Amino acid sequence: MLCGGVALRQFIRNQKAALYIAAGTARGGNITMTDIQKLQQIIDGSKNIVFFGGAGVSTESGIPDFRSQDGLYNQKYKFPPEQIISHSFFMRHTADFFDFYRDRMLYPGAQPNAAHIYLARLEEAGKLKAVVTQNIDGLHQAAGSRNVFELHGSVLRNYCMRCGRFYPVDYIYSSVGVPKCGCGGIIKPDVVLYEESLDGPTIEGAVKAISSADCLIIGGTSLAVYPAAGFIDFFRGSHLVVINKSSTPADVRAELVVNDGIGKVFSQLHV
Ligand SMILES: [Zn+2]
Repeated sequence: MLCGGVALRQFIRNQKAALYIAAGTARGGNITMTDIQKLQQIIDGSKNIVFFGGAGVSTESGIPDFRSQDGLYNQKYKFPPEQIISHSFFMRHTADFFDFYRDRMLYPGAQPNAAHIYLARLEEAGKLKAVVTQNIDGLHQAAGSRNVFELHGSVLRNYCMRCGRFYPVDYIYSSVGVPKCGCGGIIKPDVVLYEESLDGPTIEGAVKAISSADCLIIGGTSLAVYPAAGFIDFFRGSHLVVINKSSTPADVRAELVVNDGIGKVFSQLHV
């Protein structure tokens, strides 16, 4: 009996040692890695990362997705946002367009968040080659990113439709009614409206970056809006990561899916 008791205590001690070894191995990186650890390992092992982002990247900077504000706009605007942000609406109801545009699409006080900052640092370190974004707020460049493909243009660029003169966003934001150029022409934001084509060189650059990447991180987009999903199909690399609060069509192909806010995830990583 005494001998059995000693054996049992020895067995228990051995189990504890075995558990400790298992935990130690996990910390080393193979058994029970967290999603953050997996993502860090993928980033550490990649040399040519491309980030593809959408509205979710900017929500943590206080810029909501205008498509998700139906409850708010319904009380104020007579038309759904998709209709207002269309070329034909812009041409026919220019003043109404700018009312919505200033109210719902311009956020002059917005600052880059942890996601923008981390991506800029990755680019600076030579690991990230391009950011492809569906956002129009210019926050990636504000954070320091240089190679940014803005699929839907930028609110920071505005041009007279008659003479082509450039105007900064402040001019649009502080104007009343339809913003006009000194020549009398209407100033149009360099934003791709519904019914309009994406910029050719921008598409080309984005496709080239994605098709030569070894790691593609899709973040803050449900890939629901055309043509986002089409760009993802050009990826031929080995590491596809999706970081989004809800599921996306790319999840089934992804090596890693993290259902969380992009800024929250990136703030836990190092370059
Ligand atoms: Zn002009």
